This record gives sequence, C-alpha cells and structure tokens, in this order.
Amino acid sequence: QANAADGVLAGLDPDQRAAASAEAGPLLIVAGPGTGKTRTVTHRIAHLVLERQVPARECLAITFTRRAAEEMTERLHALAGPTAAELTVATFHSFGLQLLRDHHDKAGLSADFGLADASVQHEVLTEVAGDERAAKALRAELSRARRGGDTDEDTAAALHRYTTALRERNLIDFDDLVVLPVRLLESDDELRAAYRDRFRWITVDEYQDVDEMQYRLLRQLAPAGANLTAVGDPDQAIYSFRGADVGFFLRFQQDWPQAPVVQLTRNYRSGRHILDGAVRAIRPGTLVPDRVLLPAGDRPAQRITVHEATDEHAEAAFVARSIDRLLGGASFHSLDSGRVDGDGHGGIGFADIAVLYRTDSQSRAVLDELVRCGLPVQKRSHDPLSARPGVDHLMRELALVPARKGSVPERVRWAADAVLAAMPDAVQEQTAEIHAAAELLMPLAQRCGDDVQRFRRELLLGAEVDALDPRADAISLLTLHAAKGLEFPVVFVVGCEDGLLPLRWPGATPENDDIAEERRLFFVGMTRAQDHLHLTRAARRTRHGTERDTRPSPFLEGLGEDIVERIAAPARRRTRATQLSLL
Ligand code: ATP
Ligand code: MG
Repeated sequence: QANAADGVLAGLDPDQRAAASAEAGPLLIVAGPGTGKTRTVTHRIAHLVLERQVPARECLAITFTRRAAEEMTERLHALAGPTAAELTVATFHSFGLQLLRDHHDKAGLSADFGLADASVQHEVLTEVAGDERAAKALRAELSRARRGGDTDEDTAAALHRYTTALRERNLIDFDDLVVLPVRLLESDDELRAAYRDRFRWITVDEYQDVDEMQYRLLRQLAPAGANLTAVGDPDQAIYSFRGADVGFFLRFQQDWPQAPVVQLTRNYRSGRHILDGAVRAIRPGTLVPDRVLLPAGDRPAQRITVHEATDEHAEAAFVARSIDRLLGGASFHSLDSGRVDGDGHGGIGFADIAVLYRTDSQSRAVLDELVRCGLPVQKRSHDPLSARPGVDHLMRELALVPARKGSVPERVRWAADAVLAAMPDAVQEQTAEIHAAAELLMPLAQRCGDDVQRFRRELLLGAEVDALDPRADAISLLTLHAAKGLEFPVVFVVGCEDGLLPLRWPGATPENDDIAEERRLFFVGMTRAQDHLHLTRAARRTRHGTERDTRPSPFLEGLGEDIVERIAAPARRRTRATQLSLL
C-alpha cells in the first residue's frame, strides 16, 4: 500500500510503480485500456524530476492530441509544482512547430512564416492541379507521399510545385510540421546533437498510432540506448487511415534493443462485465494474444445493455430516455410517467455521459433529439478544427479585424456577428453553423487570452476534440476516434450495425485489415465506459439517402448472454402534445 515514503509514486500500484521508476534507457509499456498507462508515465516524469534530479527542461512528453497534452500538463503541475513549467508536453505537430520557429533559418523559412489554413491550401492546390476536382485528389496523394508513401514522378513534381507556391506565400502546411523537422534533424548533425542533448528524457503516449514521419522524428531524437519510454496498446491502433502504422510499436525492441517491456494488467476504469465484454469483442482480432486484463477495483458490475431500435430516430429517443432515467428525471421532466428510477444513479451529471458513433453523420439524429429534450451537449469529431463548417468564415473575418482590441473570445463573437451581418440571406442552418463554430472555439479556451496569433496557430493545429471542455456541464457526442484516451461513467455506442461497425460504403467490400481496425475501434469505444455501457442499433437506417434494413454488428456476436442485458423498446410515450407540455 501507498505511504508517504513512496512520494510521487504513491498513487500507483506495484506494477505501475515498477514502470514509473524503471532505470534509464529505453522502456516499452504495453498494456490494455484503463490500466493506467497515461497515469503511469505522468507519474514517471514527476518522479524523474522530483526524486531523480532530472532537470525538468530535459523532459519531453509527446501526446496524441492537444487536449491530452493539456491534461498531462495540468496533472504534472499538480504533482511536481512550479518546476513543471519547464517540462515540454507537446504533440508531434506542436513540437515540430516550436523546432521550426527556433530554427527557421535552417529550414529556409523566414522568422515570420505562417501556417496555411484550409482555404489557402485549397487555393494553392487548385493552382497546381488545374481545377477543384483534381485539387482534392492531389491533396490526398501529396499527403500520403509526404508521410513516406511511394511517390511516382508526377506526384513528386506536383509536390515540388505545391511546396514552392506555399513558400512564395511564406507558408508551411500541417504535414510540414513534422516533415521539415525530420529533414533537418536527419541532415544537420549539429542540430541533432543539440536536440539529443536538450531532451534526454522522452515519453510517447499512444505509441501504437505513430506514423512513419513521427517515427523518423523519434529515431533522430532518441538513438538506441536513449531514455525513451513508449506506451501504448496495439489493440487500440485506430489511425491507419491517416498513415499510422502499428508495426512501429511491434518492432520497438528491435529499434531500441535492450528495452525492457512492462505489462500492466489491472484495469481501473471499467466494471467487470464491461471489461469482460470488451475482451471478448477484441479477442478474434487481438494483436496481443497473451493479454491479461483484469478488473482492479470493486466497481459495481452493471451488465452491458443492448438495445435494438426500429430506426435511427427511435435509437436517439432511446438514448435520450436512458439519460433521463440515469439522471433520475431530476434535470428534465421524465418523458413517460415522471417516475424517478430508484436504481443508484449515484449523482451522474451530463459531463459523465458520452454518446459515441462511427461516422459524424450519425450524430445528427442523436443531437437533434437531445437538443429537443433540452439536454446540453458538446459535439466533437477527430477532424481538424479548421475543417469544421463555419470555422473558416470566422478565421477569415478574424484576420480582417486585427486592429480591434479585445480578448480572443470577444473577437470571435464580433467575427461571428460580422460574418452573419454579411450574410443577410443566411438560412437557419448557416446561422446555426456559425454560432456553433464560435461556441466550439470558446474554450480554445479563453486559453489564449489576448494572443490572436496563438489562437490562430492553435486552431490550425487542433482537432475538434481538442476543444472538448472536460469541465462543461454537457453530454459529449464524439466519434469513436475522438474518444481515444477518454473515459466516462456512462457510454452509449450507437449504430452497432454491420456496415457501420465495421464501416462499409455501399458497394464496397472492406479488406481484412480494415475489419481488424474497425474491431479495434469498437474495442476502444467499449473501454471508454466506467459503469454503464449501452450498445444500440437501428433495425432500419437511412444512409446516403436510402433507408435499408440492417444486420447487427458482427462484433456483438461473442459478447455472451451472461454479461448482456437486452432492453426492449421504451414504453409508448405520451402523445406529442403532452410531451411538449412536460418539457
Ligand atoms: P487508455 O488505454 O484508454 O489510454 P490508460 O491505460 O492510459 O487508458 P489511464 O487513463 O491512465 O489508463 O487510467 C484509467 C483510469 O484509471 C484513470 O481514471 C486513472 O486515474 C485510473 N487509475 C489508473 N491507475 C490507478 C491506480 N493505481 N489507482 C487508482 N486509479 C487508477
Ligand atoms: Mg491513456
């Protein structure tokens, strides 16, 4: 048991403690969801700084998202105090940006280089490709090529023209943030030596999702024998569509020989049945066949509920009704009898609830229903923030009014007003889009104070999920990809249907590799849940404008009746008129 003498490692179990206090040199932590990987490496950094006299400025922690970086930073401040300010906690992209700012001359950039936003990028691509259609195709092609994929001569030439056109505008793009630093570090011995000397202790969370360029960056920063701690779970590798390759995880011990492997086997997150269900669901496709994953605590074991709704609207209604019940009907009027369920909702609030889905378009029905019921929501995908409809309008407007003084949130509101004033014919949908975009940007948080440049940078670097506010009193609506690393007492995974999980476009047959990744995605979704996991599907669903019968997701097959409770359709509601008067 923990005691004061354990210092900063007191909050860890013996296995976690062994990992956190491991000797210098490379280290690989392989462990399933909820086993405290992120917690362990966070404590390891605090331990190094507080108890092993490692200078904080020599520590670099790389996380998958800005949001994760912030959370880790906060945690480190709590554990290590003011010295935490000297730690570097970054994503690959924000680390790369800092490197380029510090060494812009070596990269052939001027001191005031900027980041291309979506509209400029599109403009340049169109210029290079000839027309809009070709520009789209070229964009995907270039991105793939620059992440290390094979390149033919035409692509290489287009890439060259594209880069030249960007540089003429004094701009770099998102991929450049890793590509350029890799090029610099690989070719400049002096710079490489300086970085190796500066960052002697490196930690990478979610290592199963690094791509080739990120891997090459790490190889430069951390030679064999370096103090590199990689943490991850191959069964949670879900970003191969962006070029991530779980192969880098699997060969870690070849790349950093002598790295001990530490396994963590106790899951602190989920109730027993949820954990059992998740392990059963991943088993047919697991990349860690000898995995042990056991419940650590004595969380009450709620069965996983499975519900089949008639269509996506009924599915959304089920979600709303279940939430109503969980909240004890206290925060909005119960939709049926007004009865308050007695079964231990134990102080669940909106922030404890997440609704997860495979595709962003599924969020529509859920969002509409929750909003209709007066429930507060925050919706985030894993896509870049700058790709969200409405955000580009705001960005352009913000760039036009730099002279006006005011905090960033104030300016965002002005920008929203200005955009709307310039669109007198805006339909309701457009107006809502602009308002939603402005709200989305608020946490980003307010964080930037008066610094508009920083705000711009963060916006261009961020994914929507980075703007998730963990303190907001709202239900989270997230894509499964965006939910990575997060946890919620109550989780709904909607759309558990063949064709959505695994995802399949009409007419297309997915490859085996794709199905394996879809299974991992389902596993990630299930393992976000702490106490309540609800899996739902719609027997009929409209996709791409066509309504079709669906079949249950094959991933549901092995769950087992012992841990599953099938929930019937909710009792008939009152008539709509009565309902509305209740709301
Ligand atoms: P994922 O694979 O989803 O990223 P993870 O392995 O990184 O999960 P964490 O998020 O670090 O897991 O931890 C999961 C939850 O368990 C967190 O709420 C964490 O605080 C808690 N936890 C981890 N270890 C312990 C411990 N030793 N004692 C109490 N709680 C713990
Ligand atoms: Mg984690």
